[in-house]
Amino acid sequence: MSNRHFVVIGAGIVGVSTALYLQKDGHQVTVVDGRDPGEGTSKGNAAVIATESVVPVATPGILWDVPKMLMDPLGPLAIRWSYLPRLAPWLLRFVAASGEKKVEQISIALRAVLLQAMPAHKELAALAGQSLMIKDTGWLGIFEKDEKFASYQWDLELQKRRGVQFQILKQEEIRQFEPSLQPIYRHAVYYPENSYVTDNFALVQRLAAHFVASGGRIVKSDVKGFELGPTGPTHVRAGGDKIACDAVVVAAGAWSKKLARQLGHDVPLETERGYHVTLPKAGRMPRMPLYSGDHSFAITPLDVGLRFAGTVELGGLDLPPNYARAEKLMIHGRRMFGELNEEGRSDWMGFRPSMPDSVPVISQGGRFRNTYFGFGHGHIGLTLGPATGRIIADLAAGRDPGLDMRPFRIDRF
Ligand SMILES: Cc1cc2nc3c(=O)[nH]c(=O)nc-3n(C[C@H](O)[C@H](O)[C@H](O)COP(=O)(O)OP(=O)(O)OC[C@H]3O[C@@H](n4cnc5c(N)ncnc54)[C@H](O)[C@@H]3O)c2cc1C
Repeated sequence: MSNRHFVVIGAGIVGVSTALYLQKDGHQVTVVDGRDPGEGTSKGNAAVIATESVVPVATPGILWDVPKMLMDPLGPLAIRWSYLPRLAPWLLRFVAASGEKKVEQISIALRAVLLQAMPAHKELAALAGQSLMIKDTGWLGIFEKDEKFASYQWDLELQKRRGVQFQILKQEEIRQFEPSLQPIYRHAVYYPENSYVTDNFALVQRLAAHFVASGGRIVKSDVKGFELGPTGPTHVRAGGDKIACDAVVVAAGAWSKKLARQLGHDVPLETERGYHVTLPKAGRMPRMPLYSGDHSFAITPLDVGLRFAGTVELGGLDLPPNYARAEKLMIHGRRMFGELNEEGRSDWMGFRPSMPDSVPVISQGGRFRNTYFGFGHGHIGLTLGPATGRIIADLAAGRDPGLDMRPFRIDRF
C-alpha cells in the first residue's frame, strides 16, 4: 500500500534517514522528537563511517575482562558498580554473544549491512546537496604498544575473512602518512575504504532541513505511547496531541526500549555511554580520522575542531556523567600530538544504543505488521543510519533489501 502516513519516533541519524527514504517512496512522514534533530547521541560521535567495523564489542575471552571493567572506572570499557544489578541480564547476553562461532556469524551479518553504508550515505547526502560533507580519506589505526598490536591481530584476521581492505604500515611510514603525530607509534593499519563526515551534527540537521523542505513534518514532542487498534497503532500520543498514523517507526536510539515494549517487543537494549572532547583551536589537525588501538578511541578532524571520542561505560541512562573519562581521552591526546590548544574545549557524554551482540535491530514488528524498528546501532549508528533508513523503506514497500534480515530481527533474542 503506497502513500501511507508514517510516524517516525526519533530525529537522530537513524530516524531522519528513515524519514527521508520513506518520503522518497511517496509516503507522508511525520518525525516526532522532544529535542531538535541530531541533539541525541548523533550530536557528539566521532563522525567516522566505519565500514571496517565487523568485530563486535564482545569477543572471545571478554568474560575474563569483566572484573577489570568493574575495578577501573577510567578504563576503555568500564562498568559503573551501582548499575551492575540492572545491567546483569544484558551483561549475561553480552558474554553469551562472545563465543567464537557466534562472533563469526555476527561479523558476517555486520559485513552485509556495512557494505550498504557508503552508498546510502552518498545517496542521502546528494539528495540534500551535502555531498561535500563526506570525505573519503580512509582511517588509520595507530599502536604504541607491541602487545596491543599483537592482540589486534585477531581483529585483523576476522576483518580479512570478511573481505575488509587494509594495509599494515611500517614504523618509518607512519609519520610520512600522518605527519601530525608524535614519533611514538610502532604499528599502524590503514583502512582505505572508510570515510568520515566533516560535521556529524550538522549532517543530521541538514538532512532534517531537506526533509522539511520536501514536505515532511517535524513535531517537537516526546512520544508517551500509542492508541492500539486490533491490527496495530492507529495514533501516536505525543505531548497533548494524538497523531493519526498508518504505520510507526521506532528510531529513538537508546530510549527505544519502552516504546518497543508498548508495541509488543521486549528487547535487551542497553546503553554504552561514550565521551568526547572537542578542541575548536587544537593547533594540530590530522589528515584523516585516527583510531588509538592502545586506548580504544577515535580522533577526528571536524569542521568544529579536533575531536577525541570513544570508550565505553556501562552505566544506564540516568547516572550522572563521569567527565574524568573525557579528561582521560585528553591525557592520551596530548601524548599523541604534543602541544594542544585547549581554549574553548567542550566535553560531552552520549548514549550509544546497544544490543548485546552489537547487531542493530532493523526490523518489521512481529506483533503488529504496521510497526518498524531501527535502533541499537551501538558504535556504528552514524555509519549505518542511512542504510537502516533505506532498508526500513524497502521492508515497508515489500522490496527485497538485498541482505539476509534474520540477524537484525527484533525478536531474535
Ligand atoms: C563517543 C561516541 C563516539 C561515536 N562514534 C561513532 C562513529 O565514529 N561512527 C559511528 O558510526 N557511530 C559512532 N557512535 C555511535 C552513534 O553516535 C550512535 O550509534 C548513533 O548516533 C545512534 O543514532 P540514533 O538515531 O539511533 O540515536 P540518537 O541520535 O540518540 O537519536 C534518538 C532520538 O530519539 C529521541 N527520543 C528518545 N525518546 C523519545 C521519545 N519518547 N519520543 C520522541 N523522541 C524520542 C531522542 O531525543 C533522540 O533525538 C559514537 C557514539 C559515541 C557516544
